[in-house]
Amino acid sequence: MTKAAVIGLGTMGPGIAATLARAGMTVTAFDADVGQRAKAPKGFEFAAGVLTRLSLPDRGTSEIAVADSLAVAVAGADLVLETVPEKLELKIDVFRQVEAVVGPDCVLASDTSGIPITKIQDGLSAPARVVGMHWSNPPHIIPMIEVIAGAKTAPEVVRRMVAWVRETGHLPVVIKKDVPGFVENRVLYAVMRECVDLVEKGVIDAEDLDTCVSWGIGYKLSVVGPMALLDMAGLDIYQAVGSYLNKELCNRADVSGYVTERTKAGRFGIKTKGGIFGYTAERIAELQGERARKLIAVRKALESKN
Ligand code: NAD
Repeated sequence: MTKAAVIGLGTMGPGIAATLARAGMTVTAFDADVGQRAKAPKGFEFAAGVLTRLSLPDRGTSEIAVADSLAVAVAGADLVLETVPEKLELKIDVFRQVEAVVGPDCVLASDTSGIPITKIQDGLSAPARVVGMHWSNPPHIIPMIEVIAGAKTAPEVVRRMVAWVRETGHLPVVIKKDVPGFVENRVLYAVMRECVDLVEKGVIDAEDLDTCVSWGIGYKLSVVGPMALLDMAGLDIYQAVGSYLNKELCNRADVSGYVTERTKAGRFGIKTKGGIFGYTAERIAELQGERARKLIAVRKALESKN
């Protein structure tokens, strides 16, 4: 049986641990913060409850053990996945501690959102076993997982990772070139930059922007991907529209004032009960349930053949 260790139990870790456990892996988890360790079992339970509502393989959910030290968590692991904050030095530091404990066949996977895997490999003594395993939030529901080969990742490690992702019932996509942001976030950030720019310029209100994207492009793209959409709309139309529209699109290299003003004021979104929109604790709980329910319904619809 595969033994997996999840390091970092913040936004992503608990859902990932629950998904691996449901796939039949023996999972041990660790967070450097004792408060996060104490909260984690609630997160496992919530995610496990959602997973039972998805038609995913159930290979007998195992208990997830929360260890008091990183060394105990990773001892004997076949797979160590780090999901600590998005800082290169921190990720290298965590993996150096892991390297000192695990055996030579253990795969070291990073959930980084976009730090090139090659940069993480450069700080480690055995880079061939390091690979990207980029989950999407919420990780127990969104099926797509990017598997990223760094410049020094062994092809066998990519194959093992693809097989593990399939075991969870999720959908692996292999990123062949280790570009910053990989693919999902490059596409997402291109969309986000344009959306923020349109709201900032007063072209549309924030609520209407969300309606436009969710019920227009987002709804369509969940069924017909961008490449298939080009064929559906006609490449001649894309050529004609792109020839006058591409030069009008936002191409700023910095982050817009609309976002920067809010982050400077400590308005981070749901986690601070205010960002672009305002939230109460009740509304946050409501949204969490509502979003999980809708994402499950959409996933089931997309998986159905009729
Ligand atoms: P988070 O800040 O919510 O959680 C990180 C956790 O790591 C915290 O609980 C923290 O206590 C713990 N931690 C910090 N240093 C540690 C250490 N040395 N050892 C063990 N634990 C430590 O972050 P997150 O949103 O879960 O993101 C984690 C990673 O996943 C990042 O690389 C992020 O880019 C990536 N990611 C995030 C999302 C998302 O939507 N939040 C989506 C995909 C990928």
